[in-house]
Amino acid sequence: MIRVSGVRAELSQDFSDLRGLCEKRLKIAGNDIKSVRLARKSVDARRKSDVHFILSLDIEARGEEKLLRHLKNAVRHEPAEYEITPVSSHSERPVIVGFGPAGMLAALVLAMSGAKPIVLERGADVDTRVRSVETFRNGGPLDPECNVQFGEGGAGTFSDGKLNTGISDGRIGWILRRFAEFGAPEDILTDAKPHIGTDRLREVVKNLRERVIALGGEVRFNSKFTGYELANGCISRIFYTDSHGSHAIDSHYLILAAGHSARDVFELLHSKNVTMSQKNFSVGVRIEHRREDIDKAMYGGFAGHPALKAASYKLAVHLPSGRSLYTFCMCPGGYVMAAASEEGRLAVNGMSCSARDAENSNSALLVGIGPGDFGSSHPLAGMYLQRELEERAFTAGGSDYRAPAVTVGDFLERRKPGKLGKVRPSYKPGVRLAPPEEYLPEFVCEALRDGIIEMGKKLRGFDDPEAVLTGIESRSSSPVRIERNSALESPDIAGFYPCGEGAGHAGGIVSAAVDGMKCAEAVIAKMNGGKV
Ligand SMILES: Cc1cc2nc3c(=O)[nH]c(=O)nc-3n(C[C@H](O)[C@H](O)[C@H](O)COP(=O)(O)OP(=O)(O)OC[C@H]3O[C@@H](n4cnc5c(N)ncnc54)[C@H](O)[C@@H]3O)c2cc1C
Repeated sequence: MIRVSGVRAELSQDFSDLRGLCEKRLKIAGNDIKSVRLARKSVDARRKSDVHFILSLDIEARGEEKLLRHLKNAVRHEPAEYEITPVSSHSERPVIVGFGPAGMLAALVLAMSGAKPIVLERGADVDTRVRSVETFRNGGPLDPECNVQFGEGGAGTFSDGKLNTGISDGRIGWILRRFAEFGAPEDILTDAKPHIGTDRLREVVKNLRERVIALGGEVRFNSKFTGYELANGCISRIFYTDSHGSHAIDSHYLILAAGHSARDVFELLHSKNVTMSQKNFSVGVRIEHRREDIDKAMYGGFAGHPALKAASYKLAVHLPSGRSLYTFCMCPGGYVMAAASEEGRLAVNGMSCSARDAENSNSALLVGIGPGDFGSSHPLAGMYLQRELEERAFTAGGSDYRAPAVTVGDFLERRKPGKLGKVRPSYKPGVRLAPPEEYLPEFVCEALRDGIIEMGKKLRGFDDPEAVLTGIESRSSSPVRIERNSALESPDIAGFYPCGEGAGHAGGIVSAAVDGMKCAEAVIAKMNGGKV
């Protein structure tokens, strides 16, 4: 099989006739083509007068060697397989803390290996969780154990479900195929910017859980990991609480995939002298525009074409101050989401449904912040700074979980926030007009001010005075790293695998899932008495 990339297709392309496209564009005789499959599809919108698709095609044909010599961008391609090693010993069950992307994929791989993992998840199953989150979004109380950060599916359940990632890893294809098998749209296997949407993601999460259980694993909801005991420097017992009280599980294998918002877990590990270090993270706001304005800015006259989905963008600017401002986790046709997990502290993030058809498009607008800004060498200093900023945002929003918001015009002109314009903020339970100066450090506000103007030069209308800034976006990544060695174990504790985004080893759904698989593989290798 050969893979040919860079193949142009018009927006009107009939995707059931890829043979015809090969004949026309690649000049391969129809009789020589045995099969053609779409491998990847992206939108080329660099010239607004000529928006089209760019495809990669997997082709089986007679005379492939000749095609490899003559076709531009053609390489030999063999689909990668991922094999799971069965565990040889069934006497012990590994424990996984957290059922977010890292914990879910660790659980799936361990269950497929025959290891019958036990998952402890502090939040509820996804259906109960949806009700908790909706109650909060409608002005009800925040449940600190079951919210946008905590519960089945982890932080990504109420997300945009974007599956693009900055990492390159052979496991990614396998993960996407599992997501499609469990209910994600098939086009995630080919889209250059794959996206599931929160509505479909919930089904994926449930089906994955059912598969883990069918393979002999267990998922215990409302079960909070509270500590562990060691024997000869190795994990030997794991403690958790549920509505019936405290419990212990004897196991020598613990994958900790608790996410970046498990601040009590970070404090627990620090109190037990587990090696952790400070880590850069980012803070800022969400910027919201009307979806149709972003679509027009990205697609020009092609905006609204039935073959195009809501447009996304990615922008970054380096500023004279030495800081950078960048957009992150863009949610076309989505919502700004109430992402708090602690009482008296506010956080926002972005979410969309699979149709991405909401009125606004939003994106995080972030400035990097690092140990030099923390003002302390304490390993958890970044987390304490996050908490302080989230408290300020809570106060700025009116101390009732409304979020502080301001128009770009008022912010850039340093005016007292007046009133909103055409962009209606999507954040629920609502916003209170207040500028970022009330909750963000001055250097972040300066970077936002300078950067928004620069970004407006790159994307028409980005600096629209009626666009809205809603804060605070403070949980884009973990503020700490739980160190691990080449066997993926903590250097302090054998059998303890810090995993996923919270441990500082991943960022985003797919990279967290990859890390979960890697930790599961390391556990299997150890259970089988081998080395990683
Ligand atoms: C609103 C929102 C939108 C997002 N959109 C995207 C997106 O579109 N694309 C993308 O790639 N990323 C997105 N992200 C980020 C993505 O969700 C995370 O990177 C990813 O979920 C990290 O996976 P994880 O498994 O490492 O941790 P998490 O997903 O945070 O999972 C950790 C789990 O551990 C559980 N837990 C914590 N403490 C304990 C304890 N003591 N005992 C038992 N269980 C515990 C938590 O309840 C949680 O379920 C979004 C995040 C949010 C909040």
